[in-house]
Amino acid sequence: LFASLSSLTNLARLRSPILCVLGHVDTGKTKLLDKVRKTNVQEGEAGGITQQIGATFFPMTNLRKLTDQVSHSVKVDYKIPGLLVIDTPGHESFSNLRSRGTSICDICVLVVDIMHGLEPQTIESLQLLKRRRCPFLVALNKIDRCYDWQPNKDSPIQDTLAKQKSHTVREFESRWQGIKGEIASQGLNADLYYENKNPRKVVSVVPTSAITGEGVPDLLLLGIQLTQKMLVDRLMLSEALEATVLEVKVTEGFGTTLDIILVHGELHEGDTIVVCGMQGPIVTTIRTLLTPHPMKELRVKNEYVHHKSIEASMAVALPPVTSSLQAAMGVKIAASGLEGAVAGTSLLRLEKEDDIEELKSSVMEDLEELKKDVDKS
Ligand code: GDP
Repeated sequence: LFASLSSLTNLARLRSPILCVLGHVDTGKTKLLDKVRKTNVQEGEAGGITQQIGATFFPMTNLRKLTDQVSHSVKVDYKIPGLLVIDTPGHESFSNLRSRGTSICDICVLVVDIMHGLEPQTIESLQLLKRRRCPFLVALNKIDRCYDWQPNKDSPIQDTLAKQKSHTVREFESRWQGIKGEIASQGLNADLYYENKNPRKVVSVVPTSAITGEGVPDLLLLGIQLTQKMLVDRLMLSEALEATVLEVKVTEGFGTTLDIILVHGELHEGDTIVVCGMQGPIVTTIRTLLTPHPMKELRVKNEYVHHKSIEASMAVALPPVTSSLQAAMGVKIAASGLEGAVAGTSLLRLEKEDDIEELKSSVMEDLEELKKDVDKS
């Protein structure tokens, strides 16, 4: 009884990890994200998946269905409520997504094309991940391009490999060994995840095909497992506001808006917020909080639901509760004076007891950090 009680409390207290996809252009990042989304939709569980601003939320019930086939080989105790996947792959990316100086990505998937090996942007990303000590997995994508590959739709990788002809497996093996060597020359050890005896030190590699879906269940399961093993402290829910600006853009009817990821806490219409701007800190008042229209977001443009307040933790622990307290992690903010705001930096809220000058200098620190990263890469 105690064991099950404690797992229940864990479930209530952990937020969903935020996952980012990185890699060189054309390695299949977009296709891989589409595959995860579609496979879920095809499973008839679209209702649970919520399209958010700049991100997609996958509730654990969905992920479980997908990953159940692999869980005979990888034991996972599902503790997190789901995964929030940032939609724009390789977004001004990970290097720019900061909340109070640390990256908001809890875990990354670095996509490598098995036909091309490590490419310049892959190497850049690898070095950044190393510097940030961000846990990550490698998706060794496009395995279906190995000669004579026989696809087994959405199959776990070991199952499909066992069904391939020996010359196909030999090609796969030799390409993988080559890439393993290239990763080693970047100062990192990597192993196929099912052969990896030390996942804390050695990077796990998951062979995938974004076209056939092979290996995708493994990738999701490994992602869940890795975050639960390494990030429990970071995933503890808290009420303090933590939010990062994902994008600054003009939205028809709203002028310049901020797309943000609300990691922890709650935002309200009328809140005074402080964000980093190219010409100095921006202090403004939230005019309205917007989320995409449920179910319509993919077909209808410029249709948003307005909210008086939005809470992050609800999105991860419970289904949306009331219409005014909508649950979301990806949110659009309309306010005046947002021109020149900088994507990838923290958003702070002015509370009664706060010193506004402190908040202003705090948001500008992120800009300094971003500049340092640019200099290093
Ligand atoms: P991105 O630039 O990394 O987002 O790459 P895309 O997702 O746009 O994919 C680039 C190209 O590779 C597209 O033509 C995809 O259809 C193709 N592609 C992506 N993943 C796979 C895969 O697993 N197998 C094969 N055969 N083609 C793929």
